[in-house]
Amino acid sequence: MPESTLNEQTFQPSVFSLEGKLALITGGGSGIGFYIANCMVQVGARVVLTGRREEVLQEAVEKLGSKAEYFVNDITQLATIPALVEAIENKCGPIDILVNNAGINMKKFAVEVTDEDFDKVIQTNLHAVFSMTRECGKRMINRKSGSIIMITSMAAIYGIDRVVAYTASKSAVAGMVKALTTEFSPYNVRINAVAPGFIETPMMLTAMNGDPSRRDKAMDRTPMGTWGKPDDVGWATVFLASDAAKFITGVSLPVDGGNSIGF
Ligand code: NDP
Repeated sequence: MPESTLNEQTFQPSVFSLEGKLALITGGGSGIGFYIANCMVQVGARVVLTGRREEVLQEAVEKLGSKAEYFVNDITQLATIPALVEAIENKCGPIDILVNNAGINMKKFAVEVTDEDFDKVIQTNLHAVFSMTRECGKRMINRKSGSIIMITSMAAIYGIDRVVAYTASKSAVAGMVKALTTEFSPYNVRINAVAPGFIETPMMLTAMNGDPSRRDKAMDRTPMGTWGKPDDVGWATVFLASDAAKFITGVSLPVDGGNSIGF
């Protein structure tokens, strides 16, 4: 390779910068979403957080500082999504990065899951993710620029007991990434997923029900032998959103201490 070409490829820390970018993070007020927002702000992005609880969002924005805004919204109210995205862009400018993070879990034996239970999980984790992606994707396609990141789960990679609706929803989102890669790539819109393993958040601790044996079992399956921190997911998301990943689309990146490989 000629030396001039090598020099042009010299490492620039700025490829990880999100300076000048606006990121919309659903469920950004707490748990993993808050840490994604925090990591993005640290590398220069402005962030918009959404969620149902205003007091949680307010507190998050206070911690994040002047680069953060929030909009109260229940993503399962699908009909409100176009107006939400319009209001965000009117107030904050074009959305460059969408992180579909908001999600719920429900732990029950499959035979005890009611139709209402199933619909609730699918509506939050799948249908709302599609609606949000369609609304933001449309705008990104028009601008020929954007990055969409789905937060899926190791449940989309292997089977976990008592989370049938959750697994179905996350697997479907992983499928959506593949379908949309082919549709969105010609318009310079990238779409990827981050698949977290066991991350210390209220959702995961509740799912473990304070049962130490379940925690031990989870760690037995994790080669690195530790729980992940929410900012482990945050930094992976920054990477996928940044120019460092400008030729990466259609992938699901596990952030799981090797859990999806197992022993
Ligand atoms: P938390 O329960 O801690 O946070 C979930 C967030 O989603 C909250 O901010 C919540 O805000 C928001 N949310 C939930 N429902 C709605 C709704 N209807 N409308 C708007 N916002 C909503 O979960 P985690 O941080 O642990 O999970 C974040 C993502 O990571 C989820 O998609 C989850 O499936 C995924 N994940 C997590 C793992 C873990 O180990 N923690 C492992 C694998 C995947 P509010 O209640 O105010 O609406």
